[in-house]
Amino acid sequence: MGRIVVRGGTVISPSGRWRADVLIDDERIVAVTAPDAAVLPAAGEVAEVDATGCYVIPGGVDVHTHMQLPMGDLTSSDTFASGTAAAAWGGVTTIVDFASQQVGERVLDGLEARHAEAEGQCVIDYAFHQTIGGVDDDSLAAIPTLIEREGISSIKLFMAYPGTYYSDDGQILRAMQVAGEAGMLTMMHAENGIAIDVLRAQAMAAGDTDAIHHGLTRPPELEAEATHRAVQLAKVAGNVPLYIVHLSASQALEEVARARHAGRNVLAETCPQYLYLSLEDHLARPGVEGAAYICSTPLRSRHDHHQKDLWAGLRRDDLAVVATDHCPFCLVDGKDRISEGFTAVPNGIGGVEHRMELIYQGVVTGEITLERWVETCCTTPARVFGMHPRKGEIVPGADADIVVFDPRRTTTLGRAGKHHMAMDHSPWEGITVDGAIDTVISRGEVIVDANGLHGRPGRGRFLRRDRPAVLR
Ligand SMILES: [Zn+2]
Repeated sequence: MGRIVVRGGTVISPSGRWRADVLIDDERIVAVTAPDAAVLPAAGEVAEVDATGCYVIPGGVDVHTHMQLPMGDLTSSDTFASGTAAAAWGGVTTIVDFASQQVGERVLDGLEARHAEAEGQCVIDYAFHQTIGGVDDDSLAAIPTLIEREGISSIKLFMAYPGTYYSDDGQILRAMQVAGEAGMLTMMHAENGIAIDVLRAQAMAAGDTDAIHHGLTRPPELEAEATHRAVQLAKVAGNVPLYIVHLSASQALEEVARARHAGRNVLAETCPQYLYLSLEDHLARPGVEGAAYICSTPLRSRHDHHQKDLWAGLRRDDLAVVATDHCPFCLVDGKDRISEGFTAVPNGIGGVEHRMELIYQGVVTGEITLERWVETCCTTPARVFGMHPRKGEIVPGADADIVVFDPRRTTTLGRAGKHHMAMDHSPWEGITVDGAIDTVISRGEVIVDANGLHGRPGRGRFLRRDRPAVLR
């Protein structure tokens, strides 16, 4: 691959922005320097990427995706190949997906199976979290092996979905103790699934089967309650680090903020859908149109200013990370199960391609700074999940994962515009945003430019992750 100079742009990091050129040698960044510094090769001597007028940012790090995830008799519609291609189009150079274990299954078997699915398929680098859906002596005993041998430094637990992934409080406490002892991070799907299942059954019995009832039966109080409980359990488990996934409700954000202000080791992520979409405008649409927006946690009401509060949370660092929870399903043979009621619809929406562009809109509208955009979408996720400084920041020695982002252009999202996710619809159809992904470099290789996608399935590598950097 040799050497490349990214010339003429403005490099953005969490600590600031400056005019700088970036010198790449093979897979690594070797210099970030003043333009025309002596270390840089002369014009024409090596390959160049012209970043004049553009922002030069680290490759996006999306720490929450579900490629080809089995859900009942369905599977999420992006494969590792198609989903990582869409991610590349969206300026993402690293994803962290999930290996999964349920009651009666062996943790390391599930991990091996997941490796087999991803191996040779990914366009960009990838890693796994380990979902523990059946906490027992066997699965607990496997947890330290994950970090010691497998390069997996985070587990995920569920307070929702009784019968599949749900853990009770005792199981959560035990798993947190073991993960904490091993120096791993516990991720939590924080919703009170026992209470939610009662509300769902009641709604269906009353004939309230439309998509909006998916949201109405998962009220913010039950997200906040579970978030509170998770925070307390993490404290009792030895003040172990806790990471709340896909936070959507103001009330849950308050629980995280309170914990953080008390100095606790609690971090939280939100997703673009919770910042932009709402119960009334999207989930309430009739039939399959509303079902397209069924995801958990659900989209929240626009009347309760959740969306505004989440932006404020990002500004204040009460929300540390933006990920996508990318879990696409098609309308045909997927979301169309709304004909059997909302409880039959697979949960999830697609977004891996649009996170960088959508969160940049927060910069345009003054919600966050350029630096904060990079921090929440690249640097902090890399740090929290043990991938920094290799990923998430443009510094010498890091992998040469770089996005040239042009703020002068615009991008229309959706099937009528930019759409590479394997979905027969887009949750973001018709939205035009400021800015455009111009060039994407992954480990020193230009994988997206004006001529299209060049990255091939299988070039992405599995990333062995270190212990999480928390307390931030
Ligand atoms: Zn998820």
